[in-house]
Amino acid sequence: MWKFPVPYDLIVIGAGHAGCEAALASARMGLKTLLLTMNLDTVAKMSCNPAVGGIAKGHMVREIDALGGEMGKVIDCTGIQYRMLNSTKGPAVWGPRAQADKWAYQIEMKHRLEKTPNLDLKQGTIEDVLIQNNKVIGVTTKEGISYDCQAVVLTSGTFLRGLLHIGETNYSGGRAGDQPSVALSSSLEKLGLQLGRLKTGTPPRINRRSIDYTLTEEQPGEPWVKFSFDDEGIPRLPQVSCHITYTTEETKKIILSNIHRSPMYSGKIKGIGPRYCPSIEDKVVRFSDKERHQIFLEPEGLHTEEVYVNGVSSSLPFDVQLQFIRSIPALRNAEIMRPAYAIEYDYVISGQIQPSLECKTVEGLFLAGQINGTSGYEEAAGQGIIAGINAANRVQGRPPLILQRSEAYIGVMIDDLVTKGLDEPYRMFTSRAEHRLLLRQDNADLRLRHYGYEAGIIDGQRYQRVCEKKRILEEEVRRLGKIFKQVDAKGYTIAQLLCRPENTYATLLAQYPESIQDFGEEINFQIELNLKYAGYIDRQTQEAKKLANVENLVIPPGLDYQSIHGLRNEARQKLAKFAPTTIGQAQRISGVSPADISILMIALLRNPVNDEMNS
Ligand SMILES: Cc1cc2nc3c(=O)[nH]c(=O)nc-3n(C[C@H](O)[C@H](O)[C@H](O)COP(=O)(O)OP(=O)(O)OC[C@H]3O[C@@H](n4cnc5c(N)ncnc54)[C@H](O)[C@@H]3O)c2cc1C
Repeated sequence: MWKFPVPYDLIVIGAGHAGCEAALASARMGLKTLLLTMNLDTVAKMSCNPAVGGIAKGHMVREIDALGGEMGKVIDCTGIQYRMLNSTKGPAVWGPRAQADKWAYQIEMKHRLEKTPNLDLKQGTIEDVLIQNNKVIGVTTKEGISYDCQAVVLTSGTFLRGLLHIGETNYSGGRAGDQPSVALSSSLEKLGLQLGRLKTGTPPRINRRSIDYTLTEEQPGEPWVKFSFDDEGIPRLPQVSCHITYTTEETKKIILSNIHRSPMYSGKIKGIGPRYCPSIEDKVVRFSDKERHQIFLEPEGLHTEEVYVNGVSSSLPFDVQLQFIRSIPALRNAEIMRPAYAIEYDYVISGQIQPSLECKTVEGLFLAGQINGTSGYEEAAGQGIIAGINAANRVQGRPPLILQRSEAYIGVMIDDLVTKGLDEPYRMFTSRAEHRLLLRQDNADLRLRHYGYEAGIIDGQRYQRVCEKKRILEEEVRRLGKIFKQVDAKGYTIAQLLCRPENTYATLLAQYPESIQDFGEEINFQIELNLKYAGYIDRQTQEAKKLANVENLVIPPGLDYQSIHGLRNEARQKLAKFAPTTIGQAQRISGVSPADISILMIALLRNPVNDEMNS
């Protein structure tokens, strides 16, 4: 084994969506960072759908951007169709989504990594994470090189002992076309980590020229929905449409008559898959009364004819895939370029990481992305940036950044991962957040940019911009609550007028230009939302504050739950397993009842750490 002569502060393993954000955050915080990945041609590869964002996922991309991450900027300049999902509903659930030119996305992200100071991007397959006295000291690669470092962020995705299934055939791989990571799984087990098994799947890709678009509905994009709060001035790519079609009765018959050949139904697949993202065989079986299922035909890029058939992920054999795809009128002559498949992989079972994303038992080892049991590019990137920041914080001797549930979807996700066991791959939904009206996609910069600035990722100029935006917003919300206008022979403040459903900031601006200022679309919109929803926002802010008092009640490390009289046995076991650091976390552990929490709180209020709560 040859030792690389220069030690690194931080090594990030895997340049997927989590790894790219982790490495960029750490390098921008001034750490000498190495991003080591199996194949430099697959940096930031979209393993499944060629799209970024969506409901709740789009919120997280905005949060990543607010913190100083890259995903939003890269999709802004590589998107080929943009839409704001849910825009007919309340603003809390609007979700920006973009179809990506997936090759352009990869190349753009790779180039940004290559240009980042303090960051080295190298090809290499990690086989071992080295520790001394339970602390990370380096890694070794399959190519016979060892690297010294002070901390590691591990983001190996679906690669750990990955096993691909297409019907009766299965083989090892990280995803189609990639090697699996087998040695690394064993290395993690040697470190004492407990691994479980999950599963996910992907649909076939077909050639565009083999689709009869006359039998589909066109779904054009909308005017550009920007993800990033910054404007890099990069022009957009040409925009394209997606198309909608449906499965048929024949599709259903073909699938049902071949269901025994699906490894999911024959029992070959042991890993647990996501219920919220069922395969087509699952849909046909579980929703047997449904006559047809919707399919989106999504182009994979501007310089390829490959089309992603969204809605028919499958692990059926190739011949059955071909039959059921060709049972759809628009796809009668479809040419499958890549077959659908399912993949099983190892993940680190919940309860082994702290809210900082550092392993509880191995100092300096941080985990982010699919390895923590999540599914999705945005979930991975959201953990990646936090793991990168916190690994850098550890090396620099600073406290970790832990986002609260009332501050960010990323905070909700990490809290869930730390306190809840998984019974399927974890994906973000708006329903997981208690304070949805506070966590809107449009205000992520106001909520989070200061954290990026304090970490050293966001520069002073960008930070000043958000401070100025906040100042204007607060001033205007106050001011418009004091300016009266005569309407229907009565006096109303502009704030009151804005609350009327027929009024918007733009209409009132046109009506009262002497009293209302035009600050540009972004700030005008914030003022409007803050006034229109003032009552609800205030209520949620008060609730979040009240909860925070209990939420942050500290549980000292190593607390002996056996010694707390009155706790139920199940609660004792769960609390010992997840080792929550606050009452808030303890409350969310399944199997811990409100009565257990009351008993625990009484015990804790006698603890001097929580003196402030007592006073
Ligand atoms: C078949 C399939 C279907 C999917 N379906 C969906 C879906 O429907 N919806 C959805 O949201 N998400 C889906 N995903 C998941 C999505 O791809 C992941 O959630 C996301 O990419 C995870 O990001 P990550 O950064 O954790 O890992 P990845 O993006 O998988 O990146 C892992 C990186 O680590 C590298 N690596 C692995 N082992 C090593 C090693 N030992 N040494 C060096 N480098 C290593 C790999 O080369 C890769 O670059 C699917 C994935 C697959 C494979």
